[in-house]
Amino acid sequence: MYLKSIEVHGFKSFAHKLKFDFHNGITGIVGPNGSGKSNVADAVRWVLGEQRIKQLRGGTMQDVIFSGTENRKPLSYASVAITLDNSDHQLPIDYEEVTVARKLYRSGESEYLINGGTCRLKDVNELFYDTGIGKEGYSIIGQGQIDKILSGKPEERRELFDEAAGIVKFKRRKNTSVKKLEEERQNLLRVNDILAELE
Ligand code: ATP
Repeated sequence: MYLKSIEVHGFKSFAHKLKFDFHNGITGIVGPNGSGKSNVADAVRWVLGEQRIKQLRGGTMQDVIFSGTENRKPLSYASVAITLDNSDHQLPIDYEEVTVARKLYRSGESEYLINGGTCRLKDVNELFYDTGIGKEGYSIIGQGQIDKILSGKPEERRELFDEAAGIVKFKRRKNTSVKKLEEERQNLLRVNDILAELE
């Protein structure tokens, strides 16, 4: 699996619709300070479902929408789409190529799409569990992140190893089941209380 392209429109400094095509191998993005290199990495983080605006170097989520320049009016929405080659079927979906897209309007309305079909953020997260690509993955290592990992709490480091070992989806499923079991236990308690009152 590899990243084939990133398409941005209205995301941060990218007012025009722009497509970056990548090929298998190493690609470097170079440019003067402030030209938007980090915005490319931010676009990937964002489309993968990043909700923490600090990680995207903004104040509110609307800050990812192109805010205008002297010569160009602000835009009303930001959209990013990434396309991954999935010919090795590392992503659990029956397509050779997977496109994940996210769109956000100034009104706050937003949507996620997988191969053109609307989906939930949860679906995007689940698609990337245990691949290292998800928003909690290790495929995007930002400035200072290595230091943060090394000096972080053991539990936080453990999360990275879980992702690499491919057990995150099982842990999530276990947590959901444990939560449901607890709800059922509470329901049973209530039923027993009612029965006791009736006797
Ligand atoms: P450096 O080499 O200094 O790290 P860089 O090439 O990584 O710089 P970025 O940090 O990606 O640059 O881009 C910063 C630019 O993006 C700034 O000029 C900033 O004004 C612009 N920018 C960020 N958000 C928006 C937005 N919502 N609308 C318009 N421009 C934006």
